[in-house]
This record gives sequence, C-alpha cells and structure tokens, in this order.
Amino acid sequence: MPSMTSRKVEQSRRLQKRAESMIPGGVNSPVRAFGSVGGDPPFIVRGKGSHIWDADENEFIDYVGSWGPLILGHAAPDVLDAIVGAACNGTSFGASTPSEADLAELVLAAFPSMQKVRFVSSGTEATMSAIRLARAYTKRKYIVKFEGCYHGHSDSLLVKAGSGVATLGIPGSAGVPEEFTQFTLALPFNDAQAVEYAFQKFKHQIACVIVEPVVGNMGCVPAADDYLVALRMITEREKAVLIFDEVMTGFRVAFGGAQELYGIRPDLTTMGKIIGGGLPVGAYGGSSEIMNLVAPLGPMYQAGTLSGNPLAMAAGCAMVRHLRDHKQEIYSRLDKLSRELVEGVGAAAKEAGVPLCYNRVGSMFTWFFTQGPVTDWDSASKSNTEAFGKFFRGMLDRGVYLPPSQYEAAFLSSTHTEEDVQQTIAAAKLAFAGMKK
Ligand SMILES: *Cc1c(COP(=O)(O)O)cnc(C)c1O
Repeated sequence: MPSMTSRKVEQSRRLQKRAESMIPGGVNSPVRAFGSVGGDPPFIVRGKGSHIWDADENEFIDYVGSWGPLILGHAAPDVLDAIVGAACNGTSFGASTPSEADLAELVLAAFPSMQKVRFVSSGTEATMSAIRLARAYTKRKYIVKFEGCYHGHSDSLLVKAGSGVATLGIPGSAGVPEEFTQFTLALPFNDAQAVEYAFQKFKHQIACVIVEPVVGNMGCVPAADDYLVALRMITEREKAVLIFDEVMTGFRVAFGGAQELYGIRPDLTTMGKIIGGGLPVGAYGGSSEIMNLVAPLGPMYQAGTLSGNPLAMAAGCAMVRHLRDHKQEIYSRLDKLSRELVEGVGAAAKEAGVPLCYNRVGSMFTWFFTQGPVTDWDSASKSNTEAFGKFFRGMLDRGVYLPPSQYEAAFLSSTHTEEDVQQTIAAAKLAFAGMKK
C-alpha cells in the first residue's frame, strides 16, 4: 500500500478532460463522478482480486467492486474463462441459447420464491418491468416505494430515489412529467404504519410495494425487526404484489439474498449486479401465475435485443456456480472480515473523536458521518457530507478506493485479505487524524 499521501493524477486528469469534452461530466453513470467528494477521479485500467490500478499506476484496495457485482473480486479466473469460452462461439444471436436456462436454473434453485424468471440487461429494466407486471397482475395503478430506495432510473421510480440523485441533492429528475409519477407513493422507510395508512387511503388501488430489503442506496440501511414481515402481511391482506428489489442484495447478503436471510417470500424479485458476473444483466421473477402474464405467454410486453446475452449468461453462471459450491466458506468469511473492517474503522473514528456510526449486513456496509443511528432517509441525510468527502480523499490518497458518496454502500469481495483490512484500518486512522487539521 502506498503510505504517502500524494498520489499521481497526471494521466487520470488528462483522461478526465478528454472524456468531459465528449461525455456529460466525463462519466457514463453520475455515481462515478467526484462532485460530492472533490479531487481527481482515478481512471481505472486494471483490476485483479481486491485491487485496482489507475492510469497513473496508483494501486488501490477496492471497496466498490463495480457497485456490487464483483463479489469474487476482479478478473475472477472461472468467470473470465466462461466469458472467453462463450465469446469464441459468437457474442450474440438474438435467438435462444442453452446458457439462458442454465442461469435460470441456478437462480431459481437459490430463490425458492421464484418459479420463473426473465433476464434483461440491467437492474433498471428489471424493476421497471416488475412494476409493469405488478400493475398488469393486479389491474391497479398506484405503487408504493420508500424514500432513499433506488430502483433504477425509470420515470415512475425516480421519486426520492436515494443514491445518485441524493448525492447531487436533487429530489427527482428533470424531464419526468408529474403525471408520470402521480401514481408513485414515496413513504418513509422502516415505518410500517405509513404503509398501513397508504393502503387505507388508496383502498384497492395499490398494485405493489417495492423495497430494497436491505437498502444500499442511501448508504447501507437494514430493515428494522419485523418491518419486512409487516410489509409481507399488509400486501398479502390487501392483495398487492410485494416486490423485493434484490438487485444489490441478491447473492450478496446471503446466497439466497435478503429473502433467505430474513425468511420472507416476496411475490416478485428483481435482480442484477452479481448474477451478471460483471457483465450487464438484470432479472425479474416470481410465481408462474404472475410470470405467465409476460409476453409471449401473456399481455404484459417486455423485450430486449441483447437480453440473455451468451457472454453475460456464461459469466453469471460461472459466478453463481462458484458461490454455490463455496457457499459456507465464502459468506462466513465475508461476514467475519467485513465486521473486522467496519468495526475497526469505527473504533478508529471514536479514538479520533470523529462522530461516526455504521451499518452493515454481511459484506455490504456504510460509515455514516453522523452520531446516528441511521434507520431511514431522514437520519441518513443528517450525515456530514463534507467530513465524508475529507475522509474519502484521505483514504484515496492512502490507496483505498471507496464509493465517492456518503449515500452508497461499500462492499467486500471474497478476494479481500486480512492484510487489506488491516491496511485499510491503518489508512483510516491517518485519514481521521488528517481531518482534524
Ligand atoms: C443498482 C440497482 C438498481 C439498478 O440497476 P442498474 O443495473 O444500475 O440499472 C436497481 N435497484 C437496486 C436496489 C440497485 O442497487
């Protein structure tokens, strides 16, 4: 680990200028921008295991992991082999290939609440399609989502959506007519009473409740005890569809996702990130009864030229197979190392007198620069984002790459080592000391 606090930025700066002249903000997803933390974003040229290297040859311990997919670390050998093997046979056909059912089989075996699944190319498509399907199934218009939960960037879901919009300090998005969000009810997270009230007020009109069962997109915020149980009870009673958006949590907080961890069966599940093995994949699935409404079987239309792409399916299969075959060791080790890291940095903050609290579920976590506890968007937004920015830059200068926003979860991979964790805690001590200056 580089112990000096000045990293070279010449090449990254040049590449950023070049990108900015052609690509808005120089980025193809706004969460990659450094606007809220300041400093020069490193341009990444290579990754291996838990480490990444930038264009100036700086080395970082990576806790972003492509925002969640890379639970096996960068360039995982069996995932790479699968991708190369598939590519040699052609990259896309627009016709069915055997690997689509291979991945379906692996996903359905891990998620017993799903009998059928449809693959798409992003989490955004998965959630957008699941909402459409819930409306088709219930023949109702309203949807319930929660403040600080992000479900991709489709029009009706970009309401109090945490993540990138929260980082930019904007409530939703320009270009979304209010008519498109008039059926979206955004309620506070972890407040079952608010859900009861909404169902009373919009009796027989709410098609679905969509939730991140462990929120990652206002930083990591777990559901309170019995909150998910309450959502299940209310939606069942009201004959509304419960959608677990497990794009981030699927195969992350447990092999079978948050629904396995908490023992709750949602009606529909959306996935992405890990199931693509680092390639663009999303999925939505549920009971055959609901899924049979999807075209060509039913009237709910949804399509995709590159959906079920053979490279993406091969990568996903290799990833999920590896997780399945090493389930015990991987998830217990991830939990142990993550705890050590998160608590170690927490203790360092305490020692340095920096107000900080943390949330963690397995290998997904956030250090919030506030006294806490952080249980919803209101408490998350009390964080001192300026302090976070200083910490972020202090860590980056010491070779630790964190998500460049207070309102994003960080991740560990199975390739992170005890040494990575100790180096990161040591870097945090220095970063906290530097913040007081
Ligand atoms: C990342 C994410 C999405 C969006 O997925 P994309 O592939 O970025 O479109 C949706 N929901 C959750 C919970 C996510 O974390």
